[in-house]
Amino acid sequence: MGSEQSSYENFTYDGQNSKPMEGVFHSHLEERVRPYIDLIDSLRLIGIDKDLALPTIAVIGDQSSGKSSVLEALSGVALPRGSGIVTRCPLELRLRKIKCGVQWQAVISYKGQFTEKFNDPSLVEGYVKKAQNELAGEGVGICDELITLEIMAPDVCDLTLIDLPGIARVPVKGQPEDIGQQIKNLIGKYIEKDQTINLVVVPCNVDIATTEALKMAEEVDPEGKRTLAILTKPDLIDKGTEKNILDIVRNQVIPLSKGYIIVKCRGQKQIDDKISLTEATRVEREFFRRHEYFSCLLYEEKASIQCLATKLTQDLVDQIKKSLPLISEDIKKQLWSLRKELSQCESGPPLDPQKRKLFFINTLTTFNDKIKCLASGDMVNDDNLFVILRSEFEKWKDHLDSTKGSLYKTIQEAVAEYDLKYRGRELPGFCEYKMLEMEVQKFVIQLQGPAIDTLRVIRDTIQKQFSDVSKTCFPNYPYLQSVAMNKIDNIQSKQEAKVEERIMEQFEMEQLVYTQDGIFFKTLIYLNDIHATDGQKALKDNFAGFDCRNKHPEMLQAYYERNRLGGT
Ligand code: GDP
Ligand code: MG
Repeated sequence: MGSEQSSYENFTYDGQNSKPMEGVFHSHLEERVRPYIDLIDSLRLIGIDKDLALPTIAVIGDQSSGKSSVLEALSGVALPRGSGIVTRCPLELRLRKIKCGVQWQAVISYKGQFTEKFNDPSLVEGYVKKAQNELAGEGVGICDELITLEIMAPDVCDLTLIDLPGIARVPVKGQPEDIGQQIKNLIGKYIEKDQTINLVVVPCNVDIATTEALKMAEEVDPEGKRTLAILTKPDLIDKGTEKNILDIVRNQVIPLSKGYIIVKCRGQKQIDDKISLTEATRVEREFFRRHEYFSCLLYEEKASIQCLATKLTQDLVDQIKKSLPLISEDIKKQLWSLRKELSQCESGPPLDPQKRKLFFINTLTTFNDKIKCLASGDMVNDDNLFVILRSEFEKWKDHLDSTKGSLYKTIQEAVAEYDLKYRGRELPGFCEYKMLEMEVQKFVIQLQGPAIDTLRVIRDTIQKQFSDVSKTCFPNYPYLQSVAMNKIDNIQSKQEAKVEERIMEQFEMEQLVYTQDGIFFKTLIYLNDIHATDGQKALKDNFAGFDCRNKHPEMLQAYYERNRLGGT
């Protein structure tokens, strides 16, 4: 290449003055690379990149290392630049070469919805800034969301590059403490993919071996197979270090299989002086041609933006060629698994209206039959409904049993309290019945909450089982499923209300402490027998035996348990 790099016949636009200028792309590459890039584009267009990683180039580097300057030189379009954090969201720059004479055009899109087309290159910077402000907020924050900027121009190379926020170590005012880590995580997401070519931008005037970006690229690509380093700012080099830089560019210090390219972009002064991009390209060539140490690099195809453009396009195409078999394999795999899923779906309703009706009736009948079987206990699911219900009722019974002990204690305490506070001249054994009645009422009402809880659990259990039936019967008919679920819910709510009313009625009745003497004594004798044989309730002293209040706990227990022994 070297001095033969003379394809200046194309035109580029400078963002600052929007007038056509000479470009950098080598048209002879076009025929070879275009089909591959178009193929990847069409895959991206149908959204394959959501499922598979497509070959792309990610640009990484420290803040102010010259990333945007390099992209600007490649695209011929001014991107937002400045000191500090300027690139705050990943920016996918799709450069598409179009026929000479066709109008320059750009499309910016983000959030998967906003899309704007425009024909004036000077608007790029404003649109990118606006997008960043919308995604990452105004200020210095960053955001993972991708902005896509497609530029169709006759003078660009066919490339897709992703500009990423620069690596920063110290947060500036308004940035979170962990901004460095946030940026690194964001960069990591792009550079870790095997399909991505990592373009690491490093200024010549820093210690290259300790560059964070190069380290990050090394971590994800230890052999440097997909890492290409770009050395910028050769004009700012520390005098005397030229030889070291030469060794680095010649791949003799930190070897990378894709190697190094050195470029010189516009410095701040050249931008301030409004030096156009084309003029900058000329200046760059002159700079290298005349350089005491670097002139040889032009001939070794290791210097200049033009050389970078050619190499990148070639690398991208190589990457695409390498990836195609893998992509095809991946697509086949996904297709296979989707086909398998599809085969599990039934064929669906017939087209003929008459047959369709029959199909509908049959589907509903199957559902009805299943619900009936489930309710009658003829059908047993994985979670056996009757086993679940039985265990819920057992829990209720356990609750009743466990509260019995406390009834006994409560009554004893109430009696003791009566003795202490209210007992007058009466002999032991004569206490107010009203007080005991109140204790029973208090006790019974405590069971109301748990009884209603049990009702809710039972309703939910049944509802879940019925809903499961509707899901298995109508897996492909969501509307039918939702109608069935609604019906189930309605019926359940009605039934639940009825049951709740019955439970409340029962509790209301239980507030009337009353039973028939025969039933009461029968239970009392039965309980006395148990206690006597158990020896648990032996009387504490002789006098106590005459105090019939000592019998109150048993009496109340007898009252409480009369139902169990058959009575009301
Ligand atoms: P980014 O933060 O990595 O995107 O860096 P920029 O592209 O914004 O560049 C940072 C500064 O370095 C800008 O002022 C550029 O003009 C300047 N710059 C970039 N490349 C060169 C170069 O090759 N030579 C000189 N002198 N300045 C450069
Ligand atoms: Mg930048």
